[in-house]
Formats: sequence, C-alpha cells, structure tokens
Amino acid sequence: MAMRLILLGPPGAGKGTQAKLLSARRGIPQISTGDILRQAVADGTPLGKEAKGYMDRGALVPDEVVIGLIRERLGQPDSAKGYILDGFPRTVVQAQALDAMLRAMGTPLHHVVAVHVEEEALVERISGRRTCGQCQRPYHVRFHFPKTEGVCDACGGALLQRDDDREETVRRRLSVYRQQTEPLLAYYKGAGLLKEMAGEGKIEEIAAQIDRVISNAR
Ligand code: ADP
Ligand code: ADP
Ligand code: ZN
Repeated sequence: MAMRLILLGPPGAGKGTQAKLLSARRGIPQISTGDILRQAVADGTPLGKEAKGYMDRGALVPDEVVIGLIRERLGQPDSAKGYILDGFPRTVVQAQALDAMLRAMGTPLHHVVAVHVEEEALVERISGRRTCGQCQRPYHVRFHFPKTEGVCDACGGALLQRDDDREETVRRRLSVYRQQTEPLLAYYKGAGLLKEMAGEGKIEEIAAQIDRVISNAR
C-alpha cells in the first residue's frame, strides 16, 4: 500500500539521513525541497538563482516557490507509490497548501513523524556535516564517515560543506525553525497525524524507531 509521510524536525535532526534509508527500505521516493533547491543552485537555473540568496542567509525560500515545486513533484508518476517529504512543509501556509493539493488528489497523508534533538547536538551535527555535491547524501566528520574519505559511498561524488552549514547561519536557521516551522507540530497534532520521537542515538536505532512508529499507530 502506498505510504505518504512527512519527516518533520529542525535542521540537523537527521531527516535527510533517515529519509534516504526509509526510501530504500520501502521503495518510495524521498522528496526533499532542500535537495531540489540545492540542485537548482548547482545547475544555475532561474529557480536556483532566486533561491540562493535566501538559502545562504539561512532564511526560508518564499512559500509560493516551494509550493510550486512540490505541486510539480507530486504530479510525477513515482509519487503514486507514496513518498517521504523531507524539509517540506516548513510553514503553516505550506502545510495548508499541501492539504489542499492532497485533498484534490484524494491521497491523504498517513503519518507526520516529528524527530526531536537538543539544540547543542543539532549545532554539532550541522557544523560537522559533509554533503555529497552530486546526490546530496549527508555524512559527518565524527558520526558518519564514508568508506573512502571525501567520497560519497552511494555515487562517488565529492563531499563538501554546504555554504549554509557554518555556525552563524546555523543559529539563524534554528531560530527560523522555532518561529516558522515548530507551529506545524500543533497543526498536525490537531489533524491527528503527529507521531513524536527522540532523534538522538545511533542512526540505525533511529531508523528502527521510525519503523515502529509508522507501523504501530495509524
Ligand atoms: P537534516 O536533513 O534533518 O538537516 P541530516 O540527515 O542531514 O539532517 O543530518 C545532519 C547531520 O547529522 C549529518 O552530518 C548526519 O550525518 C548527522 N547525523 C544524522 N543522524 C545522526 C545521528 N543519529 N547521530 C549523529 N549524527 C547524525
Ligand atoms: P536543513 O534540513 O539542514 O535545514 P534543507 O536542505 O532542508 O536543510 O534546507 C536548506 C535550505 O533550503 C533552507 O534553509 C531554506 O532556505 C531552503 N528550503 C528548503 N525547504 C524549504 C521549504 N519547504 N520552504 C522554504 N525554504 C526551504
Ligand atoms: Zn552521492
């Protein structure tokens, strides 16, 4: 059965890491607005040019831009199998737009999994993150090494530090999360979809916990 879920959590919570693992386990695509935007920046497309300034400052890209991206992405055939939304929605406006789209398509969400991690751990994770320039897979200088230093296990791409993963920008992004994204916890709790869990521990343990959360509750 198709499963449609949102991974919700602050920058550094492990959404990208877990979304890629879950995507492989369940055979459903990961849809990450951050990955799509970074690819557009790397390709120098008009979308990338518009988004880059916001991203480098640690601000959110305007709602209508990311809503448009998601609308297009959900229209692609592989979304029929279900999907994992990673990094979207990030504002109540985005969540409402998503609800309207899904209602029109007749494909409701099954789960919103919220991953909680302490602020200091988030900063440590983000400052040590290295990201594949090709497939956007995240690694960490202390917590998650690739098999060959500087090279992505999955695709052989070069691992780089994201421009927005420097400490000053990280604090800004965390405050944007608290102000603009955290209200989604109440939003999805109200909708009866919220499953909360702790995001600290080994990557494989978190993955197992996510599996439990989405197979138990409905
Ligand atoms: P997000 O997509 O939520 O911003 P990522 O999946 O990119 O988070 O993870 C942020 C950083 O923390 C990455 O460098 C990643 O390798 C590392 N990381 C992910 N999960 C864990 C974990 N359970 N313990 C320690 N580090 C982790
Ligand atoms: P992280 O999980 O580390 O915060 P992402 O890759 O999800 O990183 O996002 C990186 C940047 O891309 C964000 O700081 C923001 O500028 C932009 N972005 C990604 N998703 C959205 C979204 N849904 N709405 C607005 N901006 C977004
Ligand atoms: Zn890669």
